Amino acid sequence: MNQTTEMLSRARSAFVGLALGDALGAPAEFLTSGEITSRYGRLDDIVGGGWLRLKPGEVTDDTQMSLCIARATVAAGGWSLTGIADSFAAWLRSKPVDVGETCRRGIRRYMLKGELEAPFNQWDAGNGAVMRMLPTALFCLGDATLLEQCALSQARLTHNHPLSDAACITFGRLIHLALLGFSKNRLKREVDTLIQSHPSFSFDHYRGLATGYVVDTLQTVFHHFFISRSFEECVVGTVNQGGDADTTGAIAGALAGAYYGEAELPKRWLKKMDRRLVAELERLAEDLVKLSPLFSQDKEVVGKLQVVQK
Ligand code: MN
Ligand code: MN
Repeated sequence: MNQTTEMLSRARSAFVGLALGDALGAPAEFLTSGEITSRYGRLDDIVGGGWLRLKPGEVTDDTQMSLCIARATVAAGGWSLTGIADSFAAWLRSKPVDVGETCRRGIRRYMLKGELEAPFNQWDAGNGAVMRMLPTALFCLGDATLLEQCALSQARLTHNHPLSDAACITFGRLIHLALLGFSKNRLKREVDTLIQSHPSFSFDHYRGLATGYVVDTLQTVFHHFFISRSFEECVVGTVNQGGDADTTGAIAGALAGAYYGEAELPKRWLKKMDRRLVAELERLAEDLVKLSPLFSQDKEVVGKLQVVQK
């Protein structure tokens, strides 16, 4: 595989991996790891059910909000924050079964007042902005500054908190490194940089907390990603912590999908997924990377940068 082919493959794997992690983890959402063990043994297949009574392979807000960002960006052929906000609003109007409170509040604020940035709120350190970061990372490939700007602009539609901001930027950088084929040691250095500025993300002594608090969420993903040797091991380990298992699963699935690559996605899981959904995720992942500065270096990078500046 040449470099471009490999990168596109890793991008597809990341977006499909996100949906796989969401679908695998959703039945375990809000369960403790002990409850998962007594109900499923080790949850390592996509079985549906859970408090949302999902069909096997059905995905939730983590995948759906990521799709909103991906579709709006591809439709606009560049970064369009209003396009993304409109897409979130249409999604909320469709009465999705699973919506986080902070996301709902932010989208409703946009619908009522047209505001594109939530005010700072000390309680907004949830994982709702980082769970939908993947498409932004794909679109910004090759440009760290663009990544920061787009990460914060998409995040603050609903979440305005330094821990959420830092999580979104770091997750985006990890995706960039993984897509470019960097080693786990290099990715670990990126996480160390985050921990230097925000020590609460340290996962040296992982306590097993996997709540929707963005610090717990990323500690869980980091712990399982860095000890894993395969996509499946990473995502299964993550969702079996319970808690916000669909969201930790989605974030772990995107990162592990980008890092381990397409050939590692478990076939028995893919069989449970809606084929049209998988095809759309693959197409959007490729389209986003093709819009990125890495691919369009001599085209309109500058124009894109201007779009994100308010
Ligand atoms: Mn969800
Ligand atoms: Mn969740």
